[in-house]
Amino acid sequence: MSDFLTVKNLFKEYEGYRALRGVTFGLAKGDFLSLFGPNGAGKSTLLGIISTLVSPTSGQIEIKGFDLTEEPEQFKKQLGVISHHSLLYDHMTALENLVFYASLYKLKDPEKTAVELLRVVELYPRRHSRVGQFSRGMRQRLSVARALVNDPSLLLLDEPYSGLDQDAAAMLTEQLAELKSKERTVIVVTHNLDHGLNSATKVGILAAGRLVFMEARNRVDRALLEAEYLRHVQGDGEA
Ligand code: ADP
Ligand code: MG
Repeated sequence: MSDFLTVKNLFKEYEGYRALRGVTFGLAKGDFLSLFGPNGAGKSTLLGIISTLVSPTSGQIEIKGFDLTEEPEQFKKQLGVISHHSLLYDHMTALENLVFYASLYKLKDPEKTAVELLRVVELYPRRHSRVGQFSRGMRQRLSVARALVNDPSLLLLDEPYSGLDQDAAAMLTEQLAELKSKERTVIVVTHNLDHGLNSATKVGILAAGRLVFMEARNRVDRALLEAEYLRHVQGDGEA
C-alpha cells in the first residue's frame, strides 16, 4: 500500500533545462524515505515541488488524496518543511520563533504548543535565548520543532545534517527516529549513507532528474546502496 503520497510522472523545466524527467513513486503512511543523489540531480527541486514552493511543469501529486493543484490548501495543511533556509528569526528567542509560527497556523494555544515542541527537541532550557546565538545543531533542532508546529503528516527535510557535528547529528537522528515511531511520513535528502539508512523504510536514488533506484530498506545494505549509487551516478561529473 503506497496511498499516502503519490507522485506521478513529475517533470520540471527551468528555462529549458529539465531538472526532473518523469519522477513517479508512492509512500505509505509511516514510510521514511531517504533520498540520495549527486549535486544537481533534482532532489531540492522534487522536495520544493512537494512543499508547494516550486511549481511543477507537469505531473501529479496527491497527499491523502488531496491534489496539489486542485486542493492546495488541504494539501499544504499536511506539510512540515525543513530546507536550507532555516526560516528562523535571529533576533527572536527560540520560544518567540515557535509562538510566531504556531500563531500563523491559528493554533488555539500557540505558547503551549511551542513549549511542548521545545521539550521534544531538548531546547526548553534555552527557550529564552536569541536564535542568533544558537549553534548550527541547535538551529537545526529548532527547525525540526518549527516544522512540527502544525502537526504535519508529511515532513520534508532537505539535507538536515549538513554542517552538523557528530553530537548534533546523533541528536537529530534520534529525533527523526522518534518521528518515525509517531507514524509520520518523512522524506529526507542526505549525502550520508549511514544517516540515511538509519531510520529509513525506503531508500531512493535520484540522478539527472530520474528516480533510478527505489527499494525497501530491509532489502538494501550499505554495500548494495554504494554500488547502486556508483552504477547510476558515475560519469555524472559531480558525484
Ligand atoms: P539537487 O538538490 O539534487 O542538488 P536541484 O534540484 O537543486 O538539485 O537542481 C537540479 C538542477 O536544476 C540543477 O542543474 C540546477 O542548476 C537547476 N536549477 C535548480 N533551481 C533552478 C532555478 N531556480 N533556475 C534554474 N535552474 C535551476
Ligand atoms: Mg539540493
